[in-house]
Amino acid sequence: MPAQIISGNEVAKQIREELKQEIAELKAKHNVVPGLVTVLVGADPASQVYVGGKEKTSKELGIYSERYDLPEKTTQKELIALIKKLNKNPKIHGILVQLPLPKHINETEVLYVIDPKKDVDGFHPVNVGKLMIGEPDFLPCTPHGIQQLLIRSGVKTDGAEVVVVGRSNIVGKPIANIMLQKKKGANATVTICHTATRDMAFHTRRADILIVAVGRPKAITADMVKEGVVVIDVGVNEIGKTADGKRILVGDVDFEAVKEKAKAITPVPGGVGPMTITMLMVNTVRAAKLAAGLV
Ligand code: NAP
Repeated sequence: MPAQIISGNEVAKQIREELKQEIAELKAKHNVVPGLVTVLVGADPASQVYVGGKEKTSKELGIYSERYDLPEKTTQKELIALIKKLNKNPKIHGILVQLPLPKHINETEVLYVIDPKKDVDGFHPVNVGKLMIGEPDFLPCTPHGIQQLLIRSGVKTDGAEVVVVGRSNIVGKPIANIMLQKKKGANATVTICHTATRDMAFHTRRADILIVAVGRPKAITADMVKEGVVVIDVGVNEIGKTADGKRILVGDVDFEAVKEKAKAITPVPGGVGPMTITMLMVNTVRAAKLAAGLV
């Protein structure tokens, strides 16, 4: 039987409706308006689209939003000075520095300057450490979105064999860490695969839940999964353009073939992607509540 398609668009919509309500209540009952600032350095077209999407979603939900578009030649010192100013701004609860930064700026040094309580991306080492010990203030957006997709689709994670393919700091490692926590929507046995894994199919075939964040089309084919697996495809790969110039995007999983064996699967586009911005909004609201002593 073909798989259930886990729609990130639907789940994201559901969470945004809940969030809108929560934001309205925060304002009415506590006079708290969550605020998010986005900082973009340079004119990378993809980054401009991402930042635009974040700004638009903030406004739709009632989040106060500020945006800084800085020139490519901005120095690291100037960027750090701006972040320090934003750290002190009480209207701003979340600071998002759009990555990648231009080559002359050291990303790590910049991200370390963000106040961990305003680090809504969850990339600051303090927040990475807090996640590791099971006491996170913020979960990084994409992995947080993946966990919500599983929970809200009724996928049982407790005791499940979860195999994660990819070990990046923004997806692979944090989702593995999240699924490992002794908590609801987690508590799984976790395996992480990467380029040095000897026999990847040996691991992926054992998976009850397979999470793939590799960045390569068809990295996972039907012979690499077992019947009844739940597949979360994080990959976004451009494989060409349509006649009218639109990008053709596919994930890391051979969707058509794997969906015939899987119990459930996320599509690309429309799977993990829409969840990422939504979880950024969730984190911004949480940051505002933390600042107001409401959590
Ligand atoms: P990344 O930093 O490039 O990491 C890729 C990981 O995959 C690495 O750990 C690499 O292993 C592993 N890998 C690559 N080829 C492999 C292979 N043949 N077999 C096994 N492992 C392999 O990528 P990322 O930032 O995690 O992103 C991964 C994909 O997700 C990309 O397509 C990206 O566009 C997409 N993405 C989507 C969202 C979203 O919101 N939908 C968010 C973030 C990322 P090594 O460590 O050994 O090199």
